[in-house]
Amino acid sequence: MVVSKTCPSCGDTKPISEFYREKRNPAGFRCRCKKCTLRDNRLITARNYTTTKRRDLYQKYLATHKKGMARWRAAKRDEINKHGRDKYHENLEAQRQRTRNYGRLNPGKSAQRERNYRARKHQSEGTHSEADIKDIFRLQKGRCAACKDALSVGFHVDHVTALINGGGNSRDNLQILCPTCNFAKGPRDPIVFMQRLGFLL
Ligand SMILES: [Zn+2]
Ligand SMILES: [Zn+2]
Repeated sequence: MVVSKTCPSCGDTKPISEFYREKRNPAGFRCRCKKCTLRDNRLITARNYTTTKRRDLYQKYLATHKKGMARWRAAKRDEINKHGRDKYHENLEAQRQRTRNYGRLNPGKSAQRERNYRARKHQSEGTHSEADIKDIFRLQKGRCAACKDALSVGFHVDHVTALINGGGNSRDNLQILCPTCNFAKGPRDPIVFMQRLGFLL
């Protein structure tokens, strides 16, 4: 005959009268003491209460309004669809406008990001910043590195050894070319390209 038991929850050894009977349990009693069982049950009830209540309210709301909502949607289907389309285009236009504004406020930034992105794709070493480009521009005195013309119509940042040929993306592999020279060079070997321009490299 069992006279006392240790509750694994509170760790106290208590007389068996402090434990609820439970037939399915081989010992004939609950594992935890009465005090711990009641406390745990209260906690579980409290936790369930809020979720159950919320769920019930929502189900009640649905039951009352489901049919009405469906009727309303069916009657206004065209209007609702049009609203969705309008909002989509509105957001699209606003997003495009934001991109344009950003480009205007940060000239060269998207090109720099594009270069770093392409470099990651080619798994090239190194990155560079916008400040690096400004610095290279200053060192080249605002002239094309190949034909030495003033870079008045705009400029292209070129990877001296092309990314596709294993060139890096850090500033020591960058030069600034005029658009004409850049298009002429493409991914060509830099030395071959300069020799074609008449430089004896
Ligand atoms: Zn206990
Ligand atoms: Zn040039």
